[in-house]
Amino acid sequence: MIKNIDRYPVPIVCPYCNSSVIFTSNAEIYGRQYGNGMCYKCTECNSYVGVHTGTKIPLGRLADKELRELKKECHSLFDPVWQKNKNITRDMAYRILAELLEIPVNECHFGWFDKKTLHRAKQIMSKKYWESGGNEKS
Ligand SMILES: [Zn+2]
Repeated sequence: MIKNIDRYPVPIVCPYCNSSVIFTSNAEIYGRQYGNGMCYKCTECNSYVGVHTGTKIPLGRLADKELRELKKECHSLFDPVWQKNKNITRDMAYRILAELLEIPVNECHFGWFDKKTLHRAKQIMSKKYWESGGNEKS
């Protein structure tokens, strides 16, 4: 049973080069199967996105190199907050970020963000108060 997965639409056309997107083994990207083994990949350029294990549900939007880099940067600012603060869970951290971004919490996934939103998230999480989970606004 699949439960509690927020469904991002399946990519059909690449948003970067307009070529078609296929559901395929991620060995096409990494040279060997990695993680759950599957992904959506553009047939022309190097953009792709993984899927939730055992499903064909994409983790988010098709990502090119720039988007992947931005996502990585956001995670490196986001993850320490719930990993280091005992009283903040991962869910809480997402809720706080959603509030600061003024978006619904069920849309608050880095994999779903476009470049503009990733830049906004990065800016918010670069501020000092983010380290404490947004508790000490200044
Ligand atoms: Zn493409």
